[in-house]
Amino acid sequence: MSGSERIGPRDQLLALEAAGAPEFDDVLERHGVERLEADGVEVLQVNVGRVCNQTCAHCHVDAGPHRTESMGREVAEQCVEMLGRSGIPTLDITGGAPELNPSFRWLVERGRALGRRVIDRCNLTILLVPAYADLPDFLAAHRVEVVASLPSFRPLGTNGQRGQGVFEKSLEALRRLNRAGYGGGGDLRLHLVHNPVGAFLPASEASLEREYRRELEGRHGVVFDELHTLTNMPIGRFLESLEGTNGLERYLRLLVDSFNPAAARSVMCLTYLSVGWDGTLYDCDFNQMLGLAVDHGAPRTLAELLRTGIVRRRVVTGPHCFGCAAGSGSSCGGTLTKG
Ligand code: SF4
Ligand code: SF4
Repeated sequence: MSGSERIGPRDQLLALEAAGAPEFDDVLERHGVERLEADGVEVLQVNVGRVCNQTCAHCHVDAGPHRTESMGREVAEQCVEMLGRSGIPTLDITGGAPELNPSFRWLVERGRALGRRVIDRCNLTILLVPAYADLPDFLAAHRVEVVASLPSFRPLGTNGQRGQGVFEKSLEALRRLNRAGYGGGGDLRLHLVHNPVGAFLPASEASLEREYRRELEGRHGVVFDELHTLTNMPIGRFLESLEGTNGLERYLRLLVDSFNPAAARSVMCLTYLSVGWDGTLYDCDFNQMLGLAVDHGAPRTLAELLRTGIVRRRVVTGPHCFGCAAGSGSSCGGTLTKG
């Protein structure tokens, strides 16, 4: 799908509202779950922009080579200042392909110099682009945790979502990360992310991890540390494909019918703060893609937050939030109700 076909945040919100899901906050109340309110930040998730070397069919960011949004150094400096001033222990760098941002390595170095855990949400194929071939060694040298999307351990599933040839390229990238010391159970952590290849909920994280391990290690000699499952969010290109097949209402109904109060009590917006490429603040990366900035009196930009120091905030919710609270729950760290 090309970038020109994309629908903007406002139209996405209208489509979600028209699909007839109940109010997320009402459902919380009906199940005795407290309204979502964040009173601390464990993860500063920084989306450095929408530029990417891939154009995956399920991309909630609608990222690709055609996008130009990219975080400048001034906002990157504000991120580092925020980390330095606060006790936020984790810097989670995402995109697009985060490595394509000119400030990516600078952010990693500063975050690590502050003693923070730094995560790179890597699409793997970027490691094969000649100008970025030294990335595995750079990431290893800075003890960066790599979280890499691999929708399926089968070529068909991964290529179907991410593009022809992406499965083989991803395997080659994983081998390079393995050679740099990643995925062997030590401190160079390599996590894979699975999302369903279609409009259904992910299977059990533990059983999928066993299958991934058996296939990737047994068949391809590739090792990794953990598998995270992520529910497909009905936003971005996945929303467009649902609409194109008249499947949006059915998928939302599945998410609503699978509402899990235990998952809703652990959604990531309670402990994450998401920063957009221009410094606007969001409760999560999904709200960011829907243009739903923090609200209810919270500081709207990182610059404002640095002035006020206020992090306590009521979370902005919408129909897409059922994607986080369905089944075993879903977040950037995988299933919310493990075990
Ligand atoms: S899903 Fe990730 S790799 Fe694919 S286009 Fe979106 S940002 Fe790029
Ligand atoms: S979509 Fe964002 S705001 Fe909604 S529950 Fe999930 S993490 Fe929280």
